Amino acid sequence: MTSETTTTELRRRRQHNDNDGDRFETPMTMTSKSAADDDDVDACSSSCSDSDAPLNEASSASTKNKSSSLPESSQSILQSVLPWFGLLVWPCMLFLPLLLNHTINFHYTNLFPREWYTTRGENWLDKSIELGGIWEWGTNHWLQFIGEHSKPLRHPLGLSLGISAVAVGHVFLLLYFRLHQQQILGKTTPVQRRGTVQYIYSEALQNHLSQPGGFLLLGLYLTITWVFDMLPPSYYSFAGGIQYSRVALCLICQDFVQFVMHKLEHVAHPKMYRISHKPHHKFTNPKLFDAFDGSVPDTAIMILVPLFVTAHIVRDCNVWTYMAFGSSYANWLTLIHSEVIFPWEPRLFRSLGLGTSADHHVHHKFFKYNFGHLFMWFDMMVGTYRSPSEVWGQEFNFGV
Ligand SMILES: [Zn+2]
Ligand SMILES: [Zn+2]
Repeated sequence: MTSETTTTELRRRRQHNDNDGDRFETPMTMTSKSAADDDDVDACSSSCSDSDAPLNEASSASTKNKSSSLPESSQSILQSVLPWFGLLVWPCMLFLPLLLNHTINFHYTNLFPREWYTTRGENWLDKSIELGGIWEWGTNHWLQFIGEHSKPLRHPLGLSLGISAVAVGHVFLLLYFRLHQQQILGKTTPVQRRGTVQYIYSEALQNHLSQPGGFLLLGLYLTITWVFDMLPPSYYSFAGGIQYSRVALCLICQDFVQFVMHKLEHVAHPKMYRISHKPHHKFTNPKLFDAFDGSVPDTAIMILVPLFVTAHIVRDCNVWTYMAFGSSYANWLTLIHSEVIFPWEPRLFRSLGLGTSADHHVHHKFFKYNFGHLFMWFDMMVGTYRSPSEVWGQEFNFGV
């Protein structure tokens, strides 16, 4: 197939999809043309300009050209297997804790030697806490940081590694999402029938990373809890590896508390909603980069309070577990805001009640359903769950 016929075929298919409107499989972003970053701007299914077309068609055509030299059976196997490579994004979220704890060259003791954390020749770190000591509320104090107290500090690495794990996991997520969104791994389906919001990738990425409700506030939270000794000591312990059952428990606990706080923000008082959560609800057709776009009070109420409560319910996590939890939580939270669905979502995640982008789009679109983010279980229990399949062919595309 020549690239010219491929282009014609894509145009024909796009027109067909526009007409039936049931399933649209070629969303795209713009790389240079100005676009309103607003969810009211309908996407390609209804308003793609011609200038958008070459970008997507080029990537699709190049994928087709690359695979056209393969026999037809191999091509179909490749086309069905390739999208599932995206599943690797999940173990990649644990990249940093696994690297620093399970390798020799990159082991944390080699990369961050203890000698770095000594002052006046004496070690001011609390070795017992590093190995899982006893928690005493408020025994740490900021004065210790500047050397006014003699009591040893918790290891500052525990402070910085949590957020570093989120950041490293996020790099993998962004790389994968770019491949997925550009349909290099296969066709994608927009969640909503009106298509995806158009945006300039670099600008949206920049806006996403600079949101105060994202990394900045999380860093501040970790610093405050470290300086004022507000987390159980095991959270600064490097003993052992990732405790996977604790990661799962933390995710469930976090999402439950977040579910309660989210519901409260919606129903407690109109003023509270306006100040905290309303800014995030300006997106009725969100995109991945809208995940952290909200207000500072919203992040404090819906992210930081649950984080603090979770740390005091699941009290025996070590540094590696906290890193794994933090990264999988933050990155999953980002994924559910995607404008296109992921291969594992419609069947696997939906059947397990795990949060998908379509589930969260239901919340953004209809406001009164799906208050959970990572798990739909709590909504199912209290009757606020609405499956995306209920609006297939109406507001949402079939199969999302
Ligand atoms: Zn959201
Ligand atoms: Zn909400």
